[in-house]
Amino acid sequence: MNRLEARFAADLDALDRRLLRRRRMVRTDGTASEIEVDGCRLVNFASNDYLGLAGDPRIARALAAGAQRWGVGAGAAHLLGGHTGAHAEFEDALADYLGRDAALLFSTGYMANLGVVTALAGRGDTVVGDRLNHASLIDAAILSRARLVRYPHRDPAAAAERVRTAKGRIVLATEGVFSMDGDVAPLQPLARLAEEAGATLVVDDAHGFGVLGGGRGTTTHFGLSADRVPVLVVTFGKALGVFGAAVVGTRALIETLVNRARTYIYTTALPPAVASALTAALGVMCEEDWRGRKLIENIARFRARLQSAGVALGDSVTPIQPVLLGDVRRALAAAQALAARGYYVPAIRPPTVPGHAARLRVSLSAAQDPAQVEELADAIAQVLAGLD
Ligand SMILES: *Cc1c(COP(=O)(O)O)cnc(C)c1O
Repeated sequence: MNRLEARFAADLDALDRRLLRRRRMVRTDGTASEIEVDGCRLVNFASNDYLGLAGDPRIARALAAGAQRWGVGAGAAHLLGGHTGAHAEFEDALADYLGRDAALLFSTGYMANLGVVTALAGRGDTVVGDRLNHASLIDAAILSRARLVRYPHRDPAAAAERVRTAKGRIVLATEGVFSMDGDVAPLQPLARLAEEAGATLVVDDAHGFGVLGGGRGTTTHFGLSADRVPVLVVTFGKALGVFGAAVVGTRALIETLVNRARTYIYTTALPPAVASALTAALGVMCEEDWRGRKLIENIARFRARLQSAGVALGDSVTPIQPVLLGDVRRALAAAQALAARGYYVPAIRPPTVPGHAARLRVSLSAAQDPAQVEELADAIAQVLAGLD
């Protein structure tokens, strides 16, 4: 083994010993509600496909038609000929749906966050963020060269303290719905704080879009007008079942990002066919509001069933329902026991969550039957009772 290989092997061994090594499994079939892994069928409680749209044949047809019309790739960056009518159509439809002036498509939520934060803050500035913010918001702050200051989870008073001592331009960044806990950011006090301090509030609503506020997300859930949340990031790989992300806001914000967001400028445009699929998915989501209602029902059913079994749940009204187990070994054992019973519920370990906060992370979806949701709740209660 050469030196580089030996280094890799030592690092991987260390992860193995701490039960923190991650391995991919190959999904051989299925979408939201059921998947097949290594020939085993499991009911899927890990997907972010909250509305059951990823397997929708109408959206698949729109994707295929988009590819026929525009080709399979954009061929260039947005500013160099890659921006098509399909992109523009979806941006307009999205801005309209969210009641905003304009939208700007990014290839991923990760890139949207990098692009937005680096466009709004730089050396000498400060990014103030919730301690549990998504990795992409943290990496965005690091890449921006601004100072990153974190405040305790969902604590607007602590955020205010950090903002008070912040230097330069201030970006106040939070998730709308936190991706590992499913709880909701205190957007009203954060919006007030940003206004008072002259900070720019950035809300990453990857998990709120399509779910809360009748679909329009966490800002609508809290009744906040567009001007109070000037920079909103939404992603489409989750509730919309497709892929991609967008920033929505004023025309001036969007034009600024077109000129300043490096993850928009220096990358190939999203395939136009994906934009066609997004337009179709947004249409289905709007027309079929039973999906959102069924999701909310599944959430209520799951929580009621577990609570009546005496299992403590977090403060989550969203499809993300964590079951905290503490140490990694227990979380892995619980996930394995559930897989043996036919459920895919992954264990979430550090560094995705803080040390000693390992957990099962249940994702609910409108694609699941209410009976499956209750059966899972019963299985979780039984598995937890059997853990040492
Ligand atoms: C999933 C997620 C992202 C990344 O979005 P992608 O489109 O998957 O890159 C960003 N922020 C949050 C809060 C997320 O949950």
